[in-house]
Amino acid sequence: MNEFKKEFKAEPKRLLELMINSIYTNKEIFLREIISNASDAIDKLYYKCLTEGISGCNRSDFFIRVKPDKAARTLTISDNGIGMTKEELEENLGVIAKSGSLDFKKDMENKEDIDIIGQFGVGFYSSFMVAKNVKVISRAYGQEEAYIWESEGTEGYSITQGEKQGVGTDIILTLRDNSDEAQYDEYLEEYTLRRLITHYSDYIRYPIIMNTEHHRPIEDIKHDHDETDHDEEPKYETYYEDETINSMVPLWKKPKKDITEEEYNQFYMDKFHDWQAPLKVIHSNIEGTLQYNSLMFIPAEASYDYYTKDYEKGLSLYSGGVLIMEKCPDLLADYFSFVKGLVDTADLSLNISREMLQHDRQLKAIATQIEKKIKSELMDMLKKDRENYEKFFKGFGRQLKYGLYSDYGLHKDLLADLILFTSSFEGKPVSFDEYISRMPSEQKYIYYACGQSESRIAAMPQTEALKEKGFEILYCTQDVDEFALKTIMNYNGKEFRNVAEGDLGIEATEEEKEKNEKAASENKDLLEAIKSALSGKLSDVRISARLKNHAVCFSSEGGISIEMEKVLNTMPNSPGVSAQKVLELNPNHPVFAALSEDYKQNGEGGKLGNYAKLLYNQALLIEGLPVEDPAEFSDLICKLMV
Ligand code: ADP
Repeated sequence: MNEFKKEFKAEPKRLLELMINSIYTNKEIFLREIISNASDAIDKLYYKCLTEGISGCNRSDFFIRVKPDKAARTLTISDNGIGMTKEELEENLGVIAKSGSLDFKKDMENKEDIDIIGQFGVGFYSSFMVAKNVKVISRAYGQEEAYIWESEGTEGYSITQGEKQGVGTDIILTLRDNSDEAQYDEYLEEYTLRRLITHYSDYIRYPIIMNTEHHRPIEDIKHDHDETDHDEEPKYETYYEDETINSMVPLWKKPKKDITEEEYNQFYMDKFHDWQAPLKVIHSNIEGTLQYNSLMFIPAEASYDYYTKDYEKGLSLYSGGVLIMEKCPDLLADYFSFVKGLVDTADLSLNISREMLQHDRQLKAIATQIEKKIKSELMDMLKKDRENYEKFFKGFGRQLKYGLYSDYGLHKDLLADLILFTSSFEGKPVSFDEYISRMPSEQKYIYYACGQSESRIAAMPQTEALKEKGFEILYCTQDVDEFALKTIMNYNGKEFRNVAEGDLGIEATEEEKEKNEKAASENKDLLEAIKSALSGKLSDVRISARLKNHAVCFSSEGGISIEMEKVLNTMPNSPGVSAQKVLELNPNHPVFAALSEDYKQNGEGGKLGNYAKLLYNQALLIEGLPVEDPAEFSDLICKLMV
């Protein structure tokens, strides 16, 4: 035999060890995993038959067979699906968790074993929890030869050429020896297998067949031959017959009332490879001019690749129970791309291409209805299940905000109600509606402040005056935040306003106004002198109406705030934009008095130039921007100290 052992890649090996020897109690899921792979393989072949017009291909020809053999201690699961070539065997079964980029060691430390298994979608490998040897004999569609993949677990696997009648795959599990903890031979019992199939795989749309034990009275058979021999006790004989074990009704076609939460969750975790139950299930059976079933899920967390370009959005599209597209992107807008699920509608042409689907009127109408449904379910969750909504928003809020910003704010009406921002009031997330509902009557704007973290924003000098007035401030900590707010501009007629903007719309008292105007005119020359000392860096230097305790801060004029400048400048190929900065000085701060005194005595020849630089750099630091010339800045401070 021309066989040589290949090692599993490093991570799979470690993971396999962990799984095989884990305390994971739910070993029985191996059967569900194998059956679900078999069903997928049949889907693929059936779809190919239909679309490539291969004749003599009937849906009723497809099946999955489960065959226990007590004498050999094996359990065989066969399908006549698309099969695997030698390369595919290698590719699909040689590496666990194709998402090898996952840092699973880190996860290992934090989570129970139980999570790891589901998290890595190690479907097929779960067979090693019950089998000491796994043999996969597969013949791919269109191929004459078959290949045998064989492995005893962690030590690696081999692939050899073999023979197989017909296209498809046989998975032969040689069960482990019984131990104190587990009786592996229970998986050879008809009773157990029947239970597992009806429990986990009932909705599989192809028959799962077993040759099962039946009994019939012997009389029935002998009747014609021997009419005289009537025994008192009826005698029974055992015979075996193929039986379809599953009901074959897809979950989404069942009435909602017949489906348990566990069934929904199980289906979701199985189909979408999540290790956590979804936060919300949205199941609709729509009758009317548009007819379809949809089953959608909101995941509990964003997957590791959600915010990368590797993530593929879309709902699975079925036509009359046949999968025609695994992820149909046209059914979900980008802002709802986190939704997982499927749509089954009767009358779509199976031969429809991706391009044609985009223009299909029926599909568009379904997408529109689905979008409304997702929105209303999310609103419902926001109102009635706050805790889960906040969890949802933590994972996917960023995506909704990108949605607000995209297409020049076109989706504002749909999305703005769903947005939350942490606010200065209780440090908790609030919606715009909640914010507006508690605005004091004299407050004109919805205020927001931007910064690296909530605690840094809370300490921003620019927020002082607003807080003193009892106005609530929304905290923007994500790069998309301010862009989204600037794009939609207002909510229910209330304008958004950055706390660092020049005009905050707060009415100062007459007394304050007078005082500030007086300070401005008295110090006109001083302000001019500071401006010229910092020439080119600023658009203006002003007396501040918003500072209470701090000496200095920036505000900005024009469309670009300092926060936007930061974000834009981190982007590749940034054109180097900058905000028009205004340096605001607190006239009531002792530093201002010192500055003014020095200017009176020495004019521009005194310390003014250095003080101006120091204040300017302090304002930069407060904004989280780098000091322009750190060496000079530090020298200036030293000068002050001695
Ligand atoms: P997953 O099902 O999550 O992709 P698995 O480890 O269960 O992961 O399977 C890996 C791959 O092996 C599948 O994606 C599929 O391509 C292939 N595969 C598994 N079982 C079969 C089968 N019975 N017929 C054809 N291909 C299969």
